[in-house]
Amino acid sequence: MRRLTILGCGAAPGVPSLGRGWRVFDPDNPKNRRSRTSVFLEYDDVRLLIDTSPDLRLQLLHNDIRHLDGVLYTHAHADHVHGIDDIREINRIMRQNLDFYAGTKTVKYIKHNFSYLLSKPNKVNDVVRLPSMVPHVIKANHSFEIKGLKIMPIKLLNHCPECLGYVFNDGEIVYIADFKTIADSGYKQIKRRPKLLVLPLTTPYGQPAHAGTEDVLAVIERINPEKAVINHMATECDYNQVMTLTPDNVVPAYDNMKIDIDD
Ligand SMILES: [Zn+2]
Ligand SMILES: [Zn+2]
Repeated sequence: MRRLTILGCGAAPGVPSLGRGWRVFDPDNPKNRRSRTSVFLEYDDVRLLIDTSPDLRLQLLHNDIRHLDGVLYTHAHADHVHGIDDIREINRIMRQNLDFYAGTKTVKYIKHNFSYLLSKPNKVNDVVRLPSMVPHVIKANHSFEIKGLKIMPIKLLNHCPECLGYVFNDGEIVYIADFKTIADSGYKQIKRRPKLLVLPLTTPYGQPAHAGTEDVLAVIERINPEKAVINHMATECDYNQVMTLTPDNVVPAYDNMKIDIDD
């Protein structure tokens, strides 16, 4: 089975947010209620989490996710990292270390802020008390494999000093995190027409560090996936409005949305 589950599709404050409430939203549409970003990828027998949302505990519980083969991090912002402590429960269930993969700066950030979570390779902590995560530093345009699945990190630009997207199986699935632009070297790693592209639309009008609707549609046109899913939306993005702004093969995400990827 190949399936991607959007565990949370909200930008950093979530929707509704304490400060802005529902803003332009229709609160009666349950698809407008958004927790912060995490994604769960099941690819044959590989189970991966992308980012650890501050809402991770409820996301793992709701989707009954008990086993992982690794965590991929995109960048060191709180809305993508700060649920990391909830990985303890996965350690307890699996009774083994869990590998995580991130760029140099993100690994440094996690080591500095969550040092108690890290285990040395080959040493399993007492999993009743201590989590055991093992860092692996990865680099854009240098692929690696997890249980035979090829994963290519790509460089996302102008959001923060180091932000990675992920290209799975030469482009079958493409996951783009917070970005303003995608490096040309990243586009070159997409060697086939993706079955699925997931990318963020934080606000429709864009911001200095976030692509807006025009940028996002241009990226979709350039990558030309069979299907694109709009993720990481703030209070300015109403589900029905985003649906009307985008072509037929592009849909907004909602929490716990499951997208099956055919063989
Ligand atoms: Zn974010
Ligand atoms: Zn960010």
